[in-house]
Amino acid sequence: MLKPMSCKLLVIGAGPGGYVCAIRAGQLGIDTVVVEALRPGGTCLNIGCIPSKALIHAAEVFEAAKAAAEANNPLGISASAPVLNLAKTVEWKDGIVARLTGGVTGLMKKAGVKYVSGTARFENGETVIVATDMGEQEIHAENIVIATGSVPVEIPSLPFGERIISSKEALKLSEPPERLVVVGGGYIGLELGTAYAKLGSQVTVVEAAPRILPLYDAELSAPVARRLARLGVEVLTSTKALGLSPDGASLRVESEETARSLPADRILVAVGRKPNFEGLGLEELAIDMEGRHIRVDDRCRTAMRGVYAIGDATGEPMLAHRAMAQGEMVAEIVAGHKRAWDKQAIPAVCFTDPEIVSVGLGPEEARASGREIKTALFPFAANGRAMTLQSEEGFVRVVARADNHLILGIQAVGAGVSELASGFGLALEMGARLEDLAATIHAHPTMGEAVPEAALRALGKALHV
Ligand code: FAD
Ligand code: NAD
Repeated sequence: MLKPMSCKLLVIGAGPGGYVCAIRAGQLGIDTVVVEALRPGGTCLNIGCIPSKALIHAAEVFEAAKAAAEANNPLGISASAPVLNLAKTVEWKDGIVARLTGGVTGLMKKAGVKYVSGTARFENGETVIVATDMGEQEIHAENIVIATGSVPVEIPSLPFGERIISSKEALKLSEPPERLVVVGGGYIGLELGTAYAKLGSQVTVVEAAPRILPLYDAELSAPVARRLARLGVEVLTSTKALGLSPDGASLRVESEETARSLPADRILVAVGRKPNFEGLGLEELAIDMEGRHIRVDDRCRTAMRGVYAIGDATGEPMLAHRAMAQGEMVAEIVAGHKRAWDKQAIPAVCFTDPEIVSVGLGPEEARASGREIKTALFPFAANGRAMTLQSEEGFVRVVARADNHLILGIQAVGAGVSELASGFGLALEMGARLEDLAATIHAHPTMGEAVPEAALRALGKALHV
């Protein structure tokens, strides 16, 4: 047993929620300790957002090189067929991860945060025991933040193993599987499924819902479905994965009409994630749960005084930027600032091809909430920059209140539209109206010009369509 420690704030988990909370707390002069079982940066930096986007970028570059090798390339560029060394790609991706996790470690140090490497377990609401390499470390804290993140959901009939993998293993393969079956046509399944299709795998997506990306409306997901078809990805909707065939070489799937066996070298199971409380000793606390996650109020407080929860541990939407915003808020609350969750919207971006962005309410959601709305979209087919980028698929769509034109939501689907999410978020946070979007000069030629055009169209004053 190591000498007990005490602090004002103990953060369990150094993912984007935990490390941001610890850094801000340290900056505010709070005596802060962060405990991490694996590596700083959590899922996001090590096995999630960043490595997946690195792989997606490499796949796009490979795809572009393949296009240049095709006869009749319209750009007049010719090249010989590219060759992929995925092990080298993974090495490059690991370099980015190392730079970022090293950066996070440095930032925590600079803020005066003490870092303890080990697995934390609650003894009670003020005491945590950490299993470290050097023995057990007891830590007493006035405030504790649970930022333990999430883990992939496993399908009981498809336990993770050599052939059946989660996103973690999919981000470190040494070569693309010849035949990849993806179970789950959500964020992970489609981001990584698309990347592997571009890297040369024969990809089949098995989705239980009637369409892919059920989280987004059908108008937004349709261009993604069309692109998947052009990439040769077979998409089986309203289809359930049952289990492996007796020889273990195929996945048995079933829909209302048919049952099939899909030969697979690898099966990527991506059917959602669940909060990670394994071995944490939550049963020692008097907190409330809501389904699988911890119930928190608008200050991320649990039912137990001094115990907070942030990030994926608090349920949907399980997104890194939400975890970070919660972490920053909790650090300021512990420092005595008056803070509460007052965000107008949490942007959601799906890094498929094309990308999807959604901030605020879509037209169906807005109508379902009983509002009268004005909505319009501007297609990239009428946008000059999109043409120069050979990316005419998609649109920007605005949703506003019919009476005072207050923006309720902005969505887009198209190449590189993830970068438009910042402007969309700003418009909602600032309480912009259609007239504000229409009156803002957007640089020419950019894809962003579709934003004022969509607003003008909603006002009945379209210029370019
Ligand atoms: P995590 O990042 O999961 O961190 C929790 C940390 O707590 C982990 O490091 C874990 O080791 C540690 N921990 C757990 N239990 C203990 C314990 N008992 N003691 C000590 N330490 C413990 N989100 C986006 O916004 N954009 C994206 O593009 C995106 N892409 C993704 C791609 C993939 C493949 C995956 C899997 C996820 C992606 N996400 C994305 C989701 C994002 O990674 C999570 O929402 C985010 O990491 C949640 O942050 P967190 O701090 O709550 O938890
Ligand atoms: P998801 O919820 O996005 O998608 C899961 C999909 O699996 C859904 O479409 C669901 O209908 C389907 N499904 C569920 N059970 C099934 C079954 N038995 N057979 C076939 N299909 C089934 O989950 P995910 O893709 O695993 O990602 C997990 C979480 O990670 C996301 O919800 C998101 O919060 C986060 N994430 C975010 C990003 C991003 O922001 N770009 C990227 C990756 C992951």
